[in-house]
Amino acid sequence: MSVNGITSKAQDAHLSGAPRHVAGGFGTLAVHAGQDPDPITGAVIPALSLSTTFAQSAAGVHKGYDYSRSGNPTRAAFETAVAALEKGKHALAFSSGSVTTATVLNLVGSGNHVISVNDTYGGTFRYFTKVASHNGIEVDFVDLYDPSVLKQSLRPNTKVVWIETPTNPTLRLVDIQAVADIVHTQPGVILVVDNTFMSPYFQTPLELGADIVVHSVTKYINGHSDVVMGVAITNDDSLADRLRFLQNSIGGVPSAFDCFLANRGLKTLHLRMKRHEENALAISRYLESSPKVGEVIYPGLPSHRQHELAKRQQKGFGGMVSFRLKDGDLETSNKFLSALRIFALAESLGGVESLAELPAVMTHASLTPEAREALGVTDSLIRLSVGVEDAADLIADIEQALNAAIR
Ligand SMILES: *Cc1c(COP(=O)(O)O)cnc(C)c1O
Repeated sequence: MSVNGITSKAQDAHLSGAPRHVAGGFGTLAVHAGQDPDPITGAVIPALSLSTTFAQSAAGVHKGYDYSRSGNPTRAAFETAVAALEKGKHALAFSSGSVTTATVLNLVGSGNHVISVNDTYGGTFRYFTKVASHNGIEVDFVDLYDPSVLKQSLRPNTKVVWIETPTNPTLRLVDIQAVADIVHTQPGVILVVDNTFMSPYFQTPLELGADIVVHSVTKYINGHSDVVMGVAITNDDSLADRLRFLQNSIGGVPSAFDCFLANRGLKTLHLRMKRHEENALAISRYLESSPKVGEVIYPGLPSHRQHELAKRQQKGFGGMVSFRLKDGDLETSNKFLSALRIFALAESLGGVESLAELPAVMTHASLTPEAREALGVTDSLIRLSVGVEDAADLIADIEQALNAAIR
């Protein structure tokens, strides 16, 4: 093929939709995977392709794209990049983490069974109990602290086991490899791991036996709190084909503009995650030393009940920290949260800016009081999404807010 009179194999590969092969470490892949220079202009950053339709040279003959719901070059660049980082062959982007969940659950036909870890993300729990159940799918919620309990929960019609690790907001871990080994004793069951909290920088579940990894891209992957998006990654060609069919048929696809922004965020994922972790570790050590704080929950602390598992299955400990104000109640928590100056009081997580929230009243308000109690989501439990500011400033902010809340 000739482009502006110049012919090269690489350009042919690009125009035929085949990604340029990039090898290397995480940072190299984050910056380069799926990011071929534009074959026409040489632009180093892939163009933001807003066109909804693509010209064909004869009926049915095109350059790999015909309609933007079915495929879009900006989306493809993002999908290639995420697949490389998650050690997967295929990635599929969606317009939110939630529609990623809904699309994956469409792999399960009516009359079948799903097993989910008991403290899954609130929106996932809502989808399982209030939407999937109406589509004739039965969901059991199981505490997987001991993965062997899964053996008793599997049924002949089980199709999906769904886990999240670490969980939200109490940062419990699930042993991915142990769960995968049990799941795969029964043919036809797949393991899905929601990897939102770790990001591919700190955890790659496909390498531990997961069949599909999902993310709310809204969080760490985009990382700048300005895009709502999701992604699913797999190594299995037939699962990828079915998900691609569902992505197009259900149509929960992200805009090209959001793909462009998420791809830009992804390029600094390794830099951000390192800093999130450094800051989170410094803050959790400070919190452990404070007489005004009770339990501190951070998988990077030796006091975490599953610290050894965290060291084994994760490549780091992430940026989420939860803790309890000592002898605190709702009023103390509110005083603490409103005294914060750098941390914003807000839901969500994974952005460059630090956020604090009260799960019992905010992210986990839709749970029954009994369910909150069982999960340890008390009125004194504060969740921090630690950003990439200076650790000393963040600690000083927490200290002055503790002093304002507790005498
Ligand atoms: C936010 C979140 C989701 C849902 O993603 P949206 O992009 O908000 O739809 C799913 N799982 C986890 C762990 C999340 O934090």
